[in-house]
Amino acid sequence: MAVLEIVSVGGPQSEILARPTTRVRDFGPKLHQLLDRMLETMREAPGVGLAAPQVGVDLRVAVIEYPDDEDDPENTMRVYELINPEIIRSKGAECGQEGCLSIPGLVADVDRATYILLRAQDRNGREFRLKAYDWLARVFQHEIDHLQGVLMTDKATQLYKLVKKTDENGEEGYDAIPIEEAWIGNRLVRAEGKVAGVQVASSR
Ligand SMILES: [Zn+2]
Repeated sequence: MAVLEIVSVGGPQSEILARPTTRVRDFGPKLHQLLDRMLETMREAPGVGLAAPQVGVDLRVAVIEYPDDEDDPENTMRVYELINPEIIRSKGAECGQEGCLSIPGLVADVDRATYILLRAQDRNGREFRLKAYDWLARVFQHEIDHLQGVLMTDKATQLYKLVKKTDENGEEGYDAIPIEEAWIGNRLVRAEGKVAGVQVASSR
């Protein structure tokens, strides 16, 4: 199965990332194929979550893959398919660092609830409820934000640039360097989504 192209901020089709998505009403084979391809695309990226607008699709759909139990040594993964998700309760607040497949090279500090209760539908339209805590709750909030056209940079309290590094054992990794502002597409953004400038598109 071919993976889908990920829409990145500033790239082609990126307006879709800033718009609320449309509710799913048709739970047929087209939706199932979209879910399967989104999962493949997310795994290949790799990422822990992917929302439909990130693959250029205007639908209220997200997929997430995360270990079922963080203490499980076998690290059994669980796939969550969220159709028309809504957060119906949330509690607590914690600042944490997160990244986004649509904003490569950048991470952000974002305050998120530490507990959420959400309501969603599965691929066949059956409604279910789900509780999530801590990091998993953060992933759900990040993806559900995408479905409202909200990006992590709109809520960030601090931005960081990822810089590749090689440690003394030759292992490659990244350092997160705090930055004051960053170009996100054609906008110069400071923390909390403040726009410091806009690049005027060149006329063609
Ligand atoms: Zn994202």
